[in-house]
Amino acid sequence: MPAKDILATQRDHNLTRLLYEDAARRGASYRETIDDRRVGPSTEGIEGLTRFDEPLSSSGTDPMEVIAMLDSVGSPATMGMAGPRFFGFVIGGSLPVTVAANWLATAWDQNTGLALATPATSKLEEVSLRWMNGLFGFPESTGCAFVTGAAVANMCGLAAARHATLRRAGWDVEQDGLFGAPEITVVVGEEVHPTVLKALGILGMGRNRTVQVPVDNKGRMRPDSLPSISGPAIVCLQAGNLNTGAFDPAGEIIPWAHDKGAWVHVDGAFGLWAAVSDRLSHLSAGVTDADSWATDAHKWLNVPYDSGIAFVRDAENLRRSMSLTASYLPMTDLREPSQYTPELSRRARGVEIWAALKTLGRDGLRAMIDQSCDNATRFADGLRNAGFTILNDVVLNQVLVSFGSDDLTKQVISRLQEDGTCWCGGTLWQGKTAMRISVSGWSTTADDVDMSLAAMIRIAREELALSTDQ
Ligand SMILES: *Cc1c(COP(=O)(O)O)cnc(C)c1O
Repeated sequence: MPAKDILATQRDHNLTRLLYEDAARRGASYRETIDDRRVGPSTEGIEGLTRFDEPLSSSGTDPMEVIAMLDSVGSPATMGMAGPRFFGFVIGGSLPVTVAANWLATAWDQNTGLALATPATSKLEEVSLRWMNGLFGFPESTGCAFVTGAAVANMCGLAAARHATLRRAGWDVEQDGLFGAPEITVVVGEEVHPTVLKALGILGMGRNRTVQVPVDNKGRMRPDSLPSISGPAIVCLQAGNLNTGAFDPAGEIIPWAHDKGAWVHVDGAFGLWAAVSDRLSHLSAGVTDADSWATDAHKWLNVPYDSGIAFVRDAENLRRSMSLTASYLPMTDLREPSQYTPELSRRARGVEIWAALKTLGRDGLRAMIDQSCDNATRFADGLRNAGFTILNDVVLNQVLVSFGSDDLTKQVISRLQEDGTCWCGGTLWQGKTAMRISVSGWSTTADDVDMSLAAMIRIAREELALSTDQ
């Protein structure tokens, strides 16, 4: 097809409608069948990906064919992360309404950096921020950045922390950099998430310069082992340990840190959401007293990738660390999204967050969080009753199980992934190899847990029999 005809087909509204409807139909079919398909992609599915290995054509391809190929070659090689029996990492699915909101917002194609240029999406981010401040119990002064995930949210929170602690010491880090700046002491727990260390590296505060606080047998920082600190300091807490789900004792550590003049940042990638549940909020007691928080929306809020949020109690500290000005960028008195994020141009992440919260309401959100924790408890009970060892205190949505020796546990994980009924990953926690079951998806039911338990127990018993035969 001549190049000008290719663009002409893209201008044809009838074709556009067919294309969008086709993609929507394919997306709906994908989601309709996800409950019944194997969770990990099949070997044939993965091998089929070689069909993408073709030279770039000169003449282009009919758009309907492009979407058909994406579906027929791509879909079978996807991991069933959106389905009810994916328990790997701490991932979550995506509520159908958030996928639909994402599609519409993608059709809008708004560059959500400026309130004047993109009023609808800027407004929705402002409303989402207000709603989340209310849900988490943050003061109204709290500002936020809608970013790609907790990794970048940790970076934004720590950038605001770096700004504020050095400003108090009379140093303007944004203008003058870190060369010659007063030193900042950074305190983390021994089981700090690697993205916090990575953020410290990016921000010039060093991955290896941290003071590490020992943790107890649940993975929580021990308040009786805090270092002595003075001068500019940042203390990083974790709300929701990625292995155990445990929370660092914020109620004890935050008053100590503030007494020393330190900034407190909380990595609450999934754990922050415990605050919305009456049953769970005791875990996060005291967390609201921190100065900044990072969380994910693509984990427990169940919106599509990628979506995370950095909150900073005094929005000015976030703004001063992220803002920029340019003569061609009109600024208003409204909340200007790009004044709070590392990015200038970005997609409208707040739209899906708004759609999730608007659909669920407080009660639906609470039910979704509680349901994950009930299902985690069901997993732990089922495995314990079958004679296997649960290594953690199941306080939230995380379960660590050992099937016996480290080798046996690794073998069970690998066979379970091949089996396809469900998908779990492995971990090494406090010297022990474990399978990690993380229940974060909105669609998981008790039946999904029972079906997964049956597969786990069957495979573990087969492997146990094989290992004792030898
Ligand atoms: C998942 C996670 C992160 C990183 O979040 P991304 O969404 O992958 O950027 C950071 N901290 C904790 C505790 C996590 O569970």
